[in-house]
Amino acid sequence: MLIAFRCRSCGAPLSKPLEERAWQPLPRARGREHHSYGPSTVRVGFFARDPDPYGPAGSAGTWVINPLDGVLLRPHTDSARLHGCCRRDGLDGPNLLCARCGGEVGVEISDCWTEYDVRLLDSAVVPEPGGSGASPGEGR
Ligand SMILES: [Zn+2]
Ligand SMILES: [Zn+2]
Repeated sequence: MLIAFRCRSCGAPLSKPLEERAWQPLPRARGREHHSYGPSTVRVGFFARDPDPYGPAGSAGTWVINPLDGVLLRPHTDSARLHGCCRRDGLDGPNLLCARCGGEVGVEISDCWTEYDVRLLDSAVVPEPGGSGASPGEGR
């Protein structure tokens, strides 16, 4: 069954319809060139739930998606959230906002020493079956 993630506060779609796969974290990459992208924990078209809370986002539960599957996500307006070596290390808390309502919805991790992932906050998004035809504003 395909699942699409929506913003919990405004119902905006935040991902394409995705298929779940088991959580399988990548080994930490080292020695890459600056400005290069790391491997993604989940392939395009899939998502996985990290069973462990993600510390940098305030020990939040997170869903991990491929950054290419993100929809209506925009960088945080607070530049203090956007630190990293050459891109985003995601260590300063949520750095992605819902482009419709401005709520904090996720963390982009895309630095030269990290994997290349987007983590959607369990507290800020709703996984919905189908991913199309569901009406926003129906709550959870
Ligand atoms: Zn770098
Ligand atoms: Zn929203």
